[in-house]
Order: sequence, then structure tokens, then C-alpha cells
Amino acid sequence: MIWEEHASLAPYNTFGIDAKAERLVHLTHESSVQAYYQHPNGYAKQTLLLSGGSNLLLCNDVPGTTARIAWKGMAITEETDDHVWLKVSAGESWHETVLYTVQQGWGGLQNLSLIPGLVGAAPVQNIGAYGVEVADTLESLSYFHWEKGEAHTLTAAECAFGYRDSLFKRSWKGKGVILSVTFKLTKHSHVLKTTYGALQEELHRMDLAPSVQNISDAVIAIRQSKLPDPKVLGNSGSFFKNPALSAAQVKTLASKHPAIPQYPQPDGTIKVAAGWLIEQAGWKGERVGNVGMHAQQALVLVNYGGASGPELWAHAQRVQSSVAEQFGVRLEPEVNLIG
Ligand SMILES: Cc1cc2nc3c(=O)[nH]c(=O)nc-3n(C[C@H](O)[C@H](O)[C@H](O)COP(=O)(O)OP(=O)(O)OC[C@H]3O[C@@H](n4cnc5c(N)ncnc54)[C@H](O)[C@@H]3O)c2cc1C
Repeated sequence: MIWEEHASLAPYNTFGIDAKAERLVHLTHESSVQAYYQHPNGYAKQTLLLSGGSNLLLCNDVPGTTARIAWKGMAITEETDDHVWLKVSAGESWHETVLYTVQQGWGGLQNLSLIPGLVGAAPVQNIGAYGVEVADTLESLSYFHWEKGEAHTLTAAECAFGYRDSLFKRSWKGKGVILSVTFKLTKHSHVLKTTYGALQEELHRMDLAPSVQNISDAVIAIRQSKLPDPKVLGNSGSFFKNPALSAAQVKTLASKHPAIPQYPQPDGTIKVAAGWLIEQAGWKGERVGNVGMHAQQALVLVNYGGASGPELWAHAQRVQSSVAEQFGVRLEPEVNLIG
């Protein structure tokens, strides 16, 4: 464990917000979680559990203890002719892990290339992109439960995954820490998901046949062309979730706005594109001071430089109210609001 006092969290969040942590502890080994749990300034004083900081908005300085997940490692735990089970520590980079599996020729994670953040956070909001979610390949995870003071294994079914949702965002929010994740990956009989329109088009444009490697390459190309790089322009990816509405609500909306993109869901609800609503409300590319919704991707709230957490949140609320007024739809943040 490495301790710091009054540390800037700017290097540890992709909005680049210079909020201060009263106390920051870097948990560099999985075994340090037990020590942190027992330390008088450790879990007992914890206000924030920080991973890669790519899905949170620091609205204020953070009192108490901020614990940063920083332990690494990966290992094959089981292998058959067709599958490999890979156990990856929470502090490994998500994208580096995906690239490693792709290089080995293992299938399952390729559509999730270039998503920022660390492996242990991936199950929290069941990260997803281009028709695939982490729930599709996650076999189990190891979880240290604060109340129990020990780790145990949870199966994918026990994680109650949903759209950008899991047990860890609901009843178990803040109850513990994911220590590692085990993925079940294919060695030969890959299930290649290429039905997502933009992915199909990119494979065609790059003249690539679907394969684990080619899908990863195409996803990386699309993401680099569409999404701002947090190292250049502070952001947290999609700021809002795509709202899931009832069929009746969507019918009413579509009668006034026939072009509204609709995505029917297995549970009978229909998701509409939050980015489209924001763009129609006039916020795409509109800059207010140091903040705005990105010019190429209306769903991405960006920090043009030096914006504070409250400034970014105030803008998100402006957009939220404006969409609610114009369309009667309440956008919910996908990003975790801290403080
Ligand atoms: C440019 C950009 C593009 C993005 N694209 C996508 C995308 O396509 N799809 C998608 O789903 N997301 C996307 N995201 C969002 C983000 O990358 C993911 O949500 C990612 O999994 C967050 O990981 P993190 O390590 O940064 O977590 P953090 O932001 O540090 O933490 C997020 C939350 O999870 C909790 N948490 C983190 N790790 C653990 C753990 N080990 N145990 C328990 N709780 C934990 C934290 O306390 C916090 O509440 C994007 C973000 C950016 C900046």
C-alpha cells in the first residue's frame, strides 16, 4: 500500500478534473485489500473506490480515503480443446487485456476493444459495445465483501447483469471490491458478432473478412474516428444511457419525430438513442465555457480544458432538462457521480 495526503486526482480520472483526495491509497497487490480493510484509515474511512476513473464525474474534492485499485496479473486457470479460462486481476488495463486475448487468437472480447478503464470495473456496469457485453464471456469473478471481510466467488448468473447494469450498481453498490474476473474464451469455434451496422460497414470499408483480429481492428478504427481520446479532450464516454421506453411512449414520440432511432428490446421496451435526442435539442457541438457535448458524438460530455466537476455536472443537467422539456424523456447518467 502506498499512502498520499491531499493528492490530486487529475491523473486518475479521464475528465482530467483536478479534485483533491484527502487521503489516497494505492492498493498495489491483491493481498493489500485485506490489510487495507483492517487499517484504521482504510476501509473504515473509505469514501471512494477508484479504478481507471473513466466512468465517474468528481463533482467535489473527496474527503476521507480514496482507494485506488492497482494490482495486476493474469493466468490461465483451465483449458480444453475448445476453450480457455483466463483469470485477470482487477487492476489490469481492459484494452491491453483484450489485445492480449486477440493476439492469442482467443475469441470473445474483440468487440470490446479500446474501451478505457480496468478489468475489475468492467462487470460493474456490464460494459458493452458493438453488440457484445462483458456478461457474454464472464464466467465468474472474485469479490471481497466488506461486511464479511473475505473474498468469495460469484458466477455470472449471480452478478444479475443487465444493460449497463449489474448487482454492483444496485443492491451491492459499494458493498465490496471485485478482485479478479475469469473469462471463458473460445480457441477455435468463435462466435463472431458483426450484425451491428457500423461494424459491418467498417469491415467492408477496410475489406476485411470477419475474424477475431479483424473485428478488433475494425472496432479500434471506428472508435478512434468517432470518440474523443480522453488524453486529448477530457471525457467519460457516453454520459447518459439510452433510455428504454414503453412501446406506447415511443409511438407518441415517433408520431411527432418519425426519424427517432428505435431499438426494440427482448423485454418489450424500446431503447431510443440518447445522442439523437441531445442532437435534436441543439446541444451537439455546442460549447458553454469550458464544457459541451462533443461535435461528432452528442452523447459525450467533454471538458475543453480546466472545467471543474460542478461545471460539467451543471452542463449535463442543462442538457437533461432541455431534452425532458422537448421530448418528455428523462435521461439518466451512465457515469457515476461522486460527491
Ligand atoms: C472515451 C470513452 C469511451 C467509453 N466507451 C465505453 C463503451 O463503449 N462501453 C461501455 O460500457 N463503457 C464505455 N466507457 C465507460 C468506461 O470506460 C467503462 O465504464 C469502464 O469499465 C470504467 O472502468 P474504470 O476502471 O475507469 O472504472 P472507474 O470509473 O474508476 O469506476 C467506475 C465505478 O465502478 C466502481 N468500481 C471500479 N472498479 C471496481 C472494482 N474492482 N470493484 C468494485 N467496484 C469497482 C467504482 O467505485 C465506480 O463506482 C467509455 C469511457 C470513455 C472515457
